Amino acid sequence: MTTAIGIVITDHLVAGRLEDQKLTSRPIRFPEQDDPLAEALTAIPRGELIDLMASQVAQLAEEVNWKVDAIGVAVPGIVRQSVVEDSPNLPQIKGMRLAEELGKELAARGINAPVYAGNDADAIAAAVAATHGRFNKLTRVWTIGNGIGYGRWPYVEGVWEGGHITVTLDPRERYCGCGGVGHLEGIMGQRAMRLRFLDLEPEEIFAHAKDGDQRCRDFVDLWHRALAAATASFIHLAGPGRFYFTGHNVHFLELALLRSHLETMVRMTPLQSFSLEILPPDDETALLGAGISAMRSVAG
Ligand SMILES: [Zn+2]
Repeated sequence: MTTAIGIVITDHLVAGRLEDQKLTSRPIRFPEQDDPLAEALTAIPRGELIDLMASQVAQLAEEVNWKVDAIGVAVPGIVRQSVVEDSPNLPQIKGMRLAEELGKELAARGINAPVYAGNDADAIAAAVAATHGRFNKLTRVWTIGNGIGYGRWPYVEGVWEGGHITVTLDPRERYCGCGGVGHLEGIMGQRAMRLRFLDLEPEEIFAHAKDGDQRCRDFVDLWHRALAAATASFIHLAGPGRFYFTGHNVHFLELALLRSHLETMVRMTPLQSFSLEILPPDDETALLGAGISAMRSVAG
């Protein structure tokens, strides 16, 4: 039996223990309740984040007499060789040698398992591949939350910052957290929606659209068209196949509307066999992915 500990950093921090690719502990969360502003972690200095993660790992490790084979951390942003090269929505971790720093803190607490860090959306794609019997199939995941993440399985070397793909040439589209003009996240991201509608929360925008408010309806349509455009681009690059959608704002997504826009954008018949599926957002899937990615990295 192999034991891994997965940690996921999104708008909150959560850790869980896996045995043979199944979650066997109750997830430990920080903060314990959802922060309505979804900005709880952005204000925490990196040293404190490492401390928080190490404490979660220690608690989970103690329950199995410190027998842990691998530790995996999933974070949003560009993560290569376990270094966070950039993370627009968690600016304090930019440049952080996450696996190394967490590994040091854990060693000081007597835990010496190897630590691996990767992108959060890639972790979800790995978990979906494992739990949906898709290990040999191209699996792509959009995470729709504070930022917009894109993950794929099997993992291939690259950046894959799908949330920052350019979906419009309108120079006024400059709400993306990374500062880039015309980006998908600049339309769909939580922070971007707040900046666009200074008078409405994202929940209200989508509610008002349902009530017929024209400005909100236009935006909801733009939101779906932007996601269709980015998805169509990936279909034109890597082919059709299945796309999964998850994240804490996935309840805004109407698959029928997305599909109708996609069908106007993908016209070549060999590319039209794509399928779309919503996954309810939960910590377990990402935790499973973080643990699986760590185990695979240890196995080489
Ligand atoms: Zn961007």
